[in-house]
Amino acid sequence: METVCTVADLRAYVRAWRAAEETVALTPTMGALHEGHLSLVTLGKARADRVVASIFVNPTQFGPAEDLEAYPSDEVRDAEMLEGAGCDLIFAPSVEEMYPPGFSTKVRVEGLTECLCGATRPGHMDGVAQVVTKLLNQAQADYAVFGEKDWQQLAVIRRLARDLDIPTEILGAPIVREADGLAMSSRNRYLDDAQRAAAGQLNVILRRAADRIAEGAAVEAEMAVARAPLLKAGFEKVDYVECRHGDDLTLVETFDPAHPARVFAAAHIGRARLIDNIAVAGPA
Ligand code: AMP
Repeated sequence: METVCTVADLRAYVRAWRAAEETVALTPTMGALHEGHLSLVTLGKARADRVVASIFVNPTQFGPAEDLEAYPSDEVRDAEMLEGAGCDLIFAPSVEEMYPPGFSTKVRVEGLTECLCGATRPGHMDGVAQVVTKLLNQAQADYAVFGEKDWQQLAVIRRLARDLDIPTEILGAPIVREADGLAMSSRNRYLDDAQRAAAGQLNVILRRAADRIAEGAAVEAEMAVARAPLLKAGFEKVDYVECRHGDDLTLVETFDPAHPARVFAAAHIGRARLIDNIAVAGPA
């Protein structure tokens, strides 16, 4: 497994694979990898002959008061993990390679980006749309794999790929969780032992709310009472707990099993802002 840092080198690899009639999957990441990331590589490997993992901590998706400077990084371990998962190539561009002087193009997906993390992290979804558009164009892969942990991001990426006629099929990978159900995240390593124990309540509280909605509880009332147990568990601030349709992210007023819905949350504990989402009346 090689590591390349330029778009030209990435494209040379992809071109050679294509010439050999091999298909290619891209798995974009920001590094500090865990089993959740490796599941994307595994899914990519199941669909394509070759898998490229990108590792790029994208500055344009971080707000000024966010954790860009502190974002964890462990390049050696990341490479070992990726190789073990069957990855063929790492693309690890510099900020200058991605955003050369004079870079001035924005990508905005309207509608889908105005709620959830789009509302609570201004500019975040635009930054994601920008970097993912670039990565998709750079790799020109047959498939690109994204995790359902970032459900809104996945919806935004599906939309932009469709709207911009990007000929890469977007695949979603199920959320990989720790033993207590906490969604794996690079940011979990910010947590001390007590915070880590409390963080395990996020998925439990969402699961409970999703189950009650599936059983017929009023959605608005259920969401109104979902913040209190999070704060009681040890979360310091809850950005949102909302029930929305999985496809267009519109708010659910009355749950209809024919229109799949999910309960979404973002909450702060210690230095970490954690997100999760769980299907109403579904396994994940
Ligand atoms: P990140 O490095 O956090 O930007 O994540 C890179 C990709 O990995 C995104 O598509 C995430 O949705 C996905 N991902 C992160 N954590 C998980 C997880 N626990 N389960 C599944 N996918 C994940």
